[in-house]
Amino acid sequence: MIKKKKVAIIGCGVSGLAAGKIFKQIGHDIVILERSHDLGGVWEASVSYPDVQTQSPKELYRYTDKAMPEEYPEWPKGPQVYDYLNGYANDYQLRDNIQFNAVVKNMARRKDDKPGWTLGISTNGGDTVKQDFDFVCICSGQFSQKNIITHDGQDAFIKAGGQVMHSSEYKDPNILTDKHVTVLGFSKSATDIAVNAVKANAKSVNLVYRKSVWRIPYFIGGLINFKNILYIRKQENMFQAWGLTKWDKFKYAIATPFIWANWRGLESLLTIQLKLNKTGLRPTTKIEDDINCSVPIVTPGFFDLVAKGNINTVQGTYQSYQTDQISLTGGEKLPTDISILAVGYKLGIPYLPQEYRDKLIEHDGQYRLHRIIANPDLPDMGFIGFNSSFCTVLAAEMGANWLVRYADGMLANQPSNQEMTDNIEMNLDWRRTKRPAAKVYGGLCSAPFHFKHFDELLDDMGAKIRKRNVIAENMAPPNADAYGRYLKSTVQYKAE
Ligand SMILES: Cc1cc2nc3c(=O)[nH]c(=O)nc-3n(C[C@H](O)[C@H](O)[C@H](O)COP(=O)(O)OP(=O)(O)OC[C@H]3O[C@@H](n4cnc5c(N)ncnc54)[C@H](O)[C@@H]3O)c2cc1C
Repeated sequence: MIKKKKVAIIGCGVSGLAAGKIFKQIGHDIVILERSHDLGGVWEASVSYPDVQTQSPKELYRYTDKAMPEEYPEWPKGPQVYDYLNGYANDYQLRDNIQFNAVVKNMARRKDDKPGWTLGISTNGGDTVKQDFDFVCICSGQFSQKNIITHDGQDAFIKAGGQVMHSSEYKDPNILTDKHVTVLGFSKSATDIAVNAVKANAKSVNLVYRKSVWRIPYFIGGLINFKNILYIRKQENMFQAWGLTKWDKFKYAIATPFIWANWRGLESLLTIQLKLNKTGLRPTTKIEDDINCSVPIVTPGFFDLVAKGNINTVQGTYQSYQTDQISLTGGEKLPTDISILAVGYKLGIPYLPQEYRDKLIEHDGQYRLHRIIANPDLPDMGFIGFNSSFCTVLAAEMGANWLVRYADGMLANQPSNQEMTDNIEMNLDWRRTKRPAAKVYGGLCSAPFHFKHFDELLDDMGAKIRKRNVIAENMAPPNADAYGRYLKSTVQYKAE
């Protein structure tokens, strides 16, 4: 018999909801601790910018048991994703289990000799209160600690009437009208905001970036939804994954000229479609070396606006602010009233004690997580949503299903600590020596290897149904309904 556990789930975004649903369904007592006043994580209105929309098509950004509504567009807007997540919480009565305005400040191993952790929780800004849990799911995301950077002269710039904000603080396009706007960064949010500023009739829009990167348009060649090219198993096989057998390596070597030609073809197509030569934004790297979770999707209209001169792109970074301008490292000076820093987020688990962070994170920032979920030196704990991808909702749900079975010793292939350590070492070596692109976000990215990652999770869970027909399996993107069937064919049980 599997004994019911008291489980803390830290964070209530996509991942906390996935963990909440499955741990509750199995029969555990769950509490979801969310520091914000509402659920949704990055999709909660107060942390997202206007016009934010998914990069993933809607059929890939969903849980297995809840499709996004028919009327949603292919790439839903932020408020639609929020409504979808809210609906999911309601479907599984998860709201009853959420404590809002509850910040996990710290954690330590329990002192009562029982397995688990004691969390220090501050609710509604009050004193930190200690609470014991048998198991902890870390679902606090990769995008919940803003990266704050400052530059010389910033205070004087603000005193003189200028504004400086992180991209997540930008809410109202009206503030940009008739202003000189400078955006720092080259991520999807940076280009989204630059386009938004043009639409808001900013006086000028500058975008300052360090290095151009390959971007994928929603429709490749203007015709083919990118999901039908980049998300399919056949394409995934064009990247050298971890743990290849000699036979896999041989097949890869034989196919190398075709794979090379495939990527050069895609680069040429994108160069023409996105006017990369005209705008001077053609990256110098090979596209296949760049593809990982940080590859941005093209903001519609961005390259046209650059080509027309509505957005001025400047390579470099900020040096300092003056009263009404920003000086760049290359010597350029950009007239600026509002500076928007699209510089991303800091990865980390600030509430985890240093001694455990040292077991989790290597000196070069790489995370030690078996299946990107669990670490043998951090018992009674697992990480959901850290296996981020191009279809993070499905990845979070797959991870949560794996984690509950791992926590209960119910994986069909329950790994020993040594097996997990060996697997972690093998994966670290692969990231460092074979595929540096996989080091992005501390190695917490399963893209573009969705199928292989999900295959491993399903193997571990003992799924009896595993595949669709050959064509769908090789030529279509991951199908959430099918993964729902695969999950149902894994070991089923109840905790009492
Ligand atoms: C603008 C934007 C667009 C994106 N688009 C896509 C996309 O199209 N496809 C895709 O696959 N991914 C996309 N992502 C990535 C996105 O982060 C994931 O898809 C997913 O939403 C992550 O969910 P999460 O629950 O893991 O983390 P989050 O959404 O970050 O949620 C974490 C939650 O934990 C809470 N929390 C943090 N620390 C604490 C604490 N100490 N105590 C209590 N609570 C805490 C936070 O308040 C937050 O609510 C996008 C991200 C952004 C920012």
